[in-house]
Formats: sequence, structure tokens, C-alpha cells
Amino acid sequence: GTAHTVHRLRANSSIMQMKKILGKSYLRFFLRSYPLSFVDTEEARLTFGDLGATQWLTEGKFDEADEAYIIGKRGQYTPVATYLQGHEIIKIALQHGVNMIHPGYGFLSENSEFARNVKDAGLIFVGPTAETIEALGDKVSARTIAIKQNVPVVPGTPGPVDKYQDAELFTNEYGFPIIIKAAFGGGGRGMRVVRDKESLKDSFERATSEAKSAFGNGTVFIERFLDRPKHIEVQLLGDNHGNIVHLYERDCSVQRRHQKVVELAPAKDLPADVRDKILNDAVKLARSVSYRNAGTAEFLVDQQNRYYFIEINPRIQVEHTITEEITGIDIVAAQIQIAAGATLAQLGLTQDRISTRGFAIQCRVTTEDPSKGFQPDTGKIEVYRSAGGNGVRLDGGNGFAGSIITPHYDSMLVKCTCHGSTYEIARRKMLRALVEFRIRGVKTNIPFLVSLITHPTFIDGNCWTTFIDDTPGLFS
Ligand code: ADP
Repeated sequence: GTAHTVHRLRANSSIMQMKKILGKSYLRFFLRSYPLSFVDTEEARLTFGDLGATQWLTEGKFDEADEAYIIGKRGQYTPVATYLQGHEIIKIALQHGVNMIHPGYGFLSENSEFARNVKDAGLIFVGPTAETIEALGDKVSARTIAIKQNVPVVPGTPGPVDKYQDAELFTNEYGFPIIIKAAFGGGGRGMRVVRDKESLKDSFERATSEAKSAFGNGTVFIERFLDRPKHIEVQLLGDNHGNIVHLYERDCSVQRRHQKVVELAPAKDLPADVRDKILNDAVKLARSVSYRNAGTAEFLVDQQNRYYFIEINPRIQVEHTITEEITGIDIVAAQIQIAAGATLAQLGLTQDRISTRGFAIQCRVTTEDPSKGFQPDTGKIEVYRSAGGNGVRLDGGNGFAGSIITPHYDSMLVKCTCHGSTYEIARRKMLRALVEFRIRGVKTNIPFLVSLITHPTFIDGNCWTTFIDDTPGLFS
């Protein structure tokens, strides 16, 4: 039995207080206030599908939520399965007069069937339409959309590859290395880099069977594996009336095994013309699918500054915080307002009114032990002191003395975001913030993050996607 929370937005003169839960990390939540005065539903309520863990309920730690409900009977579902019970979540939402469901960035956030079911139940899904999620959830179809719009994509197969022989045809033409990708993969999983002919057959077969077991669909396609690219992505917002804007870009090149670790915004040292082209192409793509609500178009930029579209994530992302810091725009509030029918113009979010200020960096603080190959650590947090001060923002709520870190969820503990007028100031604030944390009882990746952000390459702001994997010295 795991709990889900249902949040109620209460009108408080013109300001509504909203207590909000988001989470790929499922247990993390945070509190912010939203000026939702224009929302004219008398009693807007929200449910967030991603909060769990019985011990929190029993310890009364749901004090940040107005209401919390158990999904299923106690013990009926495993913790992870709880979050996938779309029907149960909808049932509870209907029972309690909820009118919107925000899926966060967790389990159901890219599930088109859930989005459809929410809508069919007469509720508002805070996100794009089910059809858009479907079209973009399949990376092959997303590539096809980009090609149609003349947006550059990484050289790759035009469609799914279902025979090893077709993989071989591709490598005969383009050579190695290549990356075999699951069409329905995500979160850095379902990808396999192949560097030589000898391992192609085996890798292809493994990739297909892994895709099938992990994503329920064995479809794979192939791209050339770019040499040390940067990962640059564009935050997009679309309203329900056909208007699209971008909120500039993020550089998410600092990754470990294709998963983001540290993100910065805006991208440092990206030539202005390249940046403008990427921003324009991102908006063009969103427009071509009549994109609604928040989303992110992801690109890779190679060492010659050529850029390639890779995918669109049809949801808010973990690293939206840095965009919020540099633009001053509350993206989650905008999502809710857009879902309620507001136009971007009503929200003051026309492109000419969106600009950036300074730099922001986010570190994902996880309960992983860097000295043990980043193995997730579990146990009770004995001591917890968090960082604070000017330009330091923390998103996450699981860290407090006495809290239990279970093995059931993502290992992200708290997101630490620092904002400063220059990249170097933001970086130094981050360094101070990281060393200010005191977390005892579970191991965290903080020592690793410190060594990362004090590395000359990071100081230059010039990391590439395999920087961590290419730099073993960082681990010691
Ligand atoms: P996911 O949906 O799992 O996040 P993406 O397609 O967004 O997968 O890719 C995640 C990361 O994998 C990229 O940021 C990059 O580091 C790496 N990657 C993906 N495609 C390529 C490629 N063709 N060449 C080099 N690296 C790639």
C-alpha cells in the first residue's frame, strides 16, 4: 500500500496556495506559491500521481499535502506498481472532485493511454494530448516528423530495423561507431553503442530483446554514434490555442551512462547563430505537431557545431528548474494555467517578453555511492543539513533526519540549483552549496559532484556527453 496525494488549490483572495508534488524521484516534493488568480474554476483541485511510501503517512510527513489517499489496499501493489495504477488514480480523483491531473515527470507522464483515460473521465490532463504523446513517444516517428520539417537528425536508419542484416547494411554505408536505440526507450535506457563489426550481431540481438522486456516493444533503429557531442535542449511551451514559445536552451551534456547529472542554462559558448537555429527548429517542430503545454526538444551538437534533433520529451523535465531561474518563469504554474485554457499572451508569455538573466546550474544529488560504482545506497538518514542562501534553490523533500531511503525508487534525493549573474558565480555558489550539505546515514554523490564541478573542463563550461565516462580520475 502506497499513498497518493490529492492536492487542492484553495482560493485565497487572488492568490492560491498550491502544494505541489512532482517526481521522477517519486518521494520528493516541494512547496511553492502560485499566483493562480486568473484560474476561474471555483475550486481547482489537483492530483499528482507520483508520491508514495507508507512510512511517510504514518510518520505524518504528508503535512505538505492537503489530502492523501492510499492506492489499492495496503500491500496490494508493490511500491512501483502503485504509481502505474492509472485507473485507481482517476477513480480517486473523481471521488474527490479533482479536476486536473498533473503527471509530474514520473511513471505515467509519458503514458498516452493514461492521458486519454484522464480526458475520457472528464478530467484535464496537464500535458499534451494523447495523440501528441503517442507520436513523440516513438523515437522513429519523432525522427520522421523532424525530417519532414527539414530539421537535421543524426544520420540513421529511416525506420525501424528488424533484421540484423539491415543493421549491417547501415554500417557498411556509414561505418562505426553506431548506437542502437529502442524506439520506445527513455531515461537513458535502451541504448547500445557498437564500435565494431564483431560485436554487431550480438549487440543487435541484445538490444532488441532488452527493448522488448523493458519497454514492451522490441522496435529498434540505428544512428551514428557522434563523437563527444554536447546535449542541448530547448524548453517549449504551447497553449491550447496554437501558440508556441521557447524558453531558451539548456546544456545537459554532463551525463553518466546517457543520464543527466548536472545541467546548465543557458548553454555556455554556443555560437549565437547555432543557438538561434536550434531554437527556431525546436519551435518549428512543436508547431508542426500543434504542441500543447510544456515539452522539451533535444538536440546533439557535434564538435563542428553541427546540430541534430534526437527527440521531444512530451512532459516537464527534471531540469526545468534552471530554465525557471534564468527566465523567472514558473513553468509548472504555466502548465496549470495553460491546461485551464489560458493563452500564452494572457500569461505574459509572448516570445518578445521572454528573456534570460545570468546562468543557472543544477546538480542532481543522489543517494548513490560514487566509491561503489554509483550503487544506490539505502537506509536511514541520521543527519541532514541542507544548503541555502542567495541564489540557492532546493527541490525535493525527502531529506530530513529520520527519513528512510528505500530501494524502490529513483535515487535522486534533492535537486540543488544555483543562479548567478555569470557562469563562474553560479558555479562557485554550487560549490559552496554542495559542501554545505551534511548528510549522514546514507552515502550520496556529493563528493563526486564537487570533484566534477571543480574540474577544469567543467570550469570552462565545455563538457561533452561522455565526459564523465571518459574521465576516470573524477571517481577518486
Ligand atoms: P533517452 O530518451 O533515453 O533520454 P536520448 O535519445 O534522449 O535517450 O539520448 C540520451 C543521451 O544519449 C544523449 O544525451 C546522448 O548523450 C546519448 N546519445 C543519444 N543518441 C546519440 C548519438 N546518435 N550519438 C551520440 N550520443 C547519443
